[in-house]
Amino acid sequence: MKNFEYKKSLGQNFLIDQNIINKIINSIDIREDSIIIEIGPGSGALTKKLVELNANVISFEIDTRLKEELDKLEKDNNNLKIIYEDFLNIDLNKFLKTKKYKNLYFVANLPYYITTAIINKITKESNPTEMILMVQKEVAERFSAVPNTKDYGSISVFLQYNYDISKVAIVSKNCFFPVPKVDSVVIKFKSKESKLKVNNENVFYKLIKDSFQFKRKNLKNNLKKYDLEKINNVLKKYNKDLTARAESLTVEEFIDISNNL
Ligand code: SAM
Repeated sequence: MKNFEYKKSLGQNFLIDQNIINKIINSIDIREDSIIIEIGPGSGALTKKLVELNANVISFEIDTRLKEELDKLEKDNNNLKIIYEDFLNIDLNKFLKTKKYKNLYFVANLPYYITTAIINKITKESNPTEMILMVQKEVAERFSAVPNTKDYGSISVFLQYNYDISKVAIVSKNCFFPVPKVDSVVIKFKSKESKLKVNNENVFYKLIKDSFQFKRKNLKNNLKKYDLEKINNVLKKYNKDLTARAESLTVEEFIDISNNL
């Protein structure tokens, strides 16, 4: 965009590679009666293609300097609504109650400074069919990490329990303007059709958060407030004990523990 002063503080690295845009669009498995929510349309590189899908598109953009550019797109597409607000300030639950839809999608080239906050918000306040998100490569590694690796943490367990996660594309930093410092990955989260049975999700989510609280500590130390005997009995089934660290436990093992608490 000519004469536009890109703001680093808003994560403004705009996609300029049409091939990557097409890959993102092609990865969306659009179903009937869908809403697509885009976070940060920027100058509309992705938005232009999203409106061609059979869905209503709602884009949240914090920077009103982009309004003039985005107004044209909104005028030409009556399935597009742009809302100039900080996405993090939206009461998503309440907002979605005012909409009629069967399937909900989140598609975004995320502003990196709030990647985790956005994903936490979406997963807590809504029930997406799919999320297709461009994130920094190292963040993507954390989402799909397996046990006994340095990237495996509570967010990996949380997301892998809820979604089937796959990589859509590895994206060179040269696909953006201005060029960021690191490469990115487009990652797809597809809501699991049949989730593993968790008796109480609040208990499960608290257990994983507490287990990973101090990464270097073992389960015995991180879970002092829990019934350790019960936990140990479950761990025995997997030839493990309380000296194990959270990073060595699989999603299934965490679920088994939480179902026995
Ligand atoms: N979608 C465009 C593209 O791919 O070229 C722009 C992506 S750019 C990485 C991130 C966009 O998010 C910017 O347009 C920025 O202004 C916007 N943004 C940053 N923080 C935001 C927030 N809290 N709520 C909504 N939009 C935000």
